[in-house]
Amino acid sequence: MFKGKTALVTGSTSGIGRGIAEQLAAQGANVVLNGFGDAAQIEALGSKLAADYGVTVRYDGADLSRQDQIEAMMARALSEFACIDILVNNAGVQFVAPIDEFPVDTWKTILAVNLSASFHTVRLALPAMKAKGWGRIINIASAHALVASPFKGAYVAAKHGIAGLTKTVALEVAAQGITMNAVCPGYVWTPLVEKQIPDTAKARGITEQQVIDDVLLKAQPTKKFVTIEQVAALTAFLASDLAASITGAIIPIDGGWTAQ
Ligand code: NAD
Repeated sequence: MFKGKTALVTGSTSGIGRGIAEQLAAQGANVVLNGFGDAAQIEALGSKLAADYGVTVRYDGADLSRQDQIEAMMARALSEFACIDILVNNAGVQFVAPIDEFPVDTWKTILAVNLSASFHTVRLALPAMKAKGWGRIINIASAHALVASPFKGAYVAAKHGIAGLTKTVALEVAAQGITMNAVCPGYVWTPLVEKQIPDTAKARGITEQQVIDDVLLKAQPTKKFVTIEQVAALTAFLASDLAASITGAIIPIDGGWTAQ
C-alpha cells in the first residue's frame, strides 16, 4: 500500500513505535527508525525489516530533546528520500511525581520530547509534503491528551498540547492533501508503562500489583491492555488513502477509558 513512500517513526527502537515501523514496512514503506537502545539490536531490527519486506531502512539516533539534532535528522532524511511522506511522532517519556516535587529538568525534557519535538519535525517535513500534495502526520498522543491522572503533570500537559497542535496544523494544511491526527492509546504494555509502576506505587502508597489492577486496568472497562499491533494498525490506516477525510481528529484507542 505504501510502496515508494517513506515513513519516519520517532522512538521506533522500542514498544509502540517499533510496532508501527514494522506495520508500515510490511505495507511497503521505506522507514527511518529513530530512538535510543543497543546498537546491535537496532542494526538487527533494521536489517530484518529490510530483508523481510524489501524496503530501505535507515536509522537515525537523534536525541529528540535537542532541536539541533532533530534538524540534522530531518535534513539527512530529506536529502536521502526527498520527502517524508508519513511522519509518525511517537517518541515519548514519562515521569511520575507530585507537581510540587516534580524535578524541573525532567519537566523540560518531557515537554521537549513529547511536545516540542513534534513541532520541529512537522515544520521541517511539511514543505516537501506540500510540494507533493500528499502527506500524513500521525502523533501518538495518549488518553492523557483527553483526561488527566494525578502525578503525571508534565506528561498530561505535553499530551494535551499535542492535541492542540494536531487540530491547528490539520486546519492549516487541510486543502493540500495532508492530514494530521492524534492517536490516543490507553495503557499498552511496553517498557514505558513497566518503568512507571514502581514510582506510581510509591506516589500512591500501594503495591506494584495494585498499580496494575487498581490504577492501570481500572481505567479501562475492557480490563485488558491495548496491544501494540492494534495501535500500529490504526496508525497504518490513518496513513492510507482511505483515511483522507480524517484530519484534526483526536482518536482514542483506550478500551473505553475516556468514554466514562
Ligand atoms: P517505549 O519506552 O517502549 O518507547 C519510547 C521510544 O522513544 C523508545 O524508542 C525511546 O528510545 C524513544 N525515546 C525516548 N526519549 C527519546 C529522545 N530524547 N530522543 C529520541 N528517542 C527517544 O514507550 P511506548 O510505550 O512505546 O511509548 C511510545 C509513545 O506512545 C509515547 O509517546 C507514549 O507517550 C505513547 N503512549 C504509550 C502508552 C503506553 O501505555 N505504553 C499509552 C499512551 C501513549
